[in-house]
Amino acid sequence: MLALYREGVAVNQLNEGETGVVVLDDTPFYAESGGQVGDRGVLQSVHGIFAVEDTQKIQAAVFGHHGVVKTGALTVGNGVAARVDVLARTRTMRNHSATHLMHKALREVLGDHVQQKGSQVDPDKTRFDFVHNQPLTNAEIRRVENIVNAEVLANTANECRVLPIAEAQKLGAMMLFGESTATPCASSTSARRANCAAAPTSSAPATSASSASPPKAAWRPACAGSRRSPATTR
Ligand SMILES: [Zn+2]
Repeated sequence: MLALYREGVAVNQLNEGETGVVVLDDTPFYAESGGQVGDRGVLQSVHGIFAVEDTQKIQAAVFGHHGVVKTGALTVGNGVAARVDVLARTRTMRNHSATHLMHKALREVLGDHVQQKGSQVDPDKTRFDFVHNQPLTNAEIRRVENIVNAEVLANTANECRVLPIAEAQKLGAMMLFGESTATPCASSTSARRANCAAAPTSSAPATSASSASPPKAAWRPACAGSRRSPATTR
């Protein structure tokens, strides 16, 4: 643990029952980005357990784990095992993939002018905002639903590749708002290439969260919507 915050103020220790923010030198947690909610989970040290209720970026490569100390205490410099809530993450990943499928299906049914204007993806639902010149008809909604459902039922295998952004776009990668950076990952979720270009800040999975070295780029799944990523590290 590199830093702890209580009510926005840096502290050396968080005690049982206190809410706060934990910064690690490396993390498997996904911070809210591209419309996708931050991960939940647990940080466990020999001295205490911290329940992570949300993960938010403090800076581009510094993630804040927001939550509460369930037992014991956390102290700066101590090591923790960081475990993402895998059930919530995988549900969110499915909805993230569904968002890309819906984006593609809407473009097929309504036209290429359909672009994402906003999005909210969590374990329970996905919402996709777009501009169109009139309300969708019931027939159009059914066509979009049928296309998405057919792709879901096809259950095509995922593939994740890290490519230069131009190459990814040549393969048909489509970004959701807020997903693009210089090192995108194009992940084909289906034959329709409802791809995802998202933003890894580092390509290697986290292996340790125990030293007090300066913060390096926190790892998160290149596209949490389609990549099978390690959700546990220590
Ligand atoms: Zn994506």
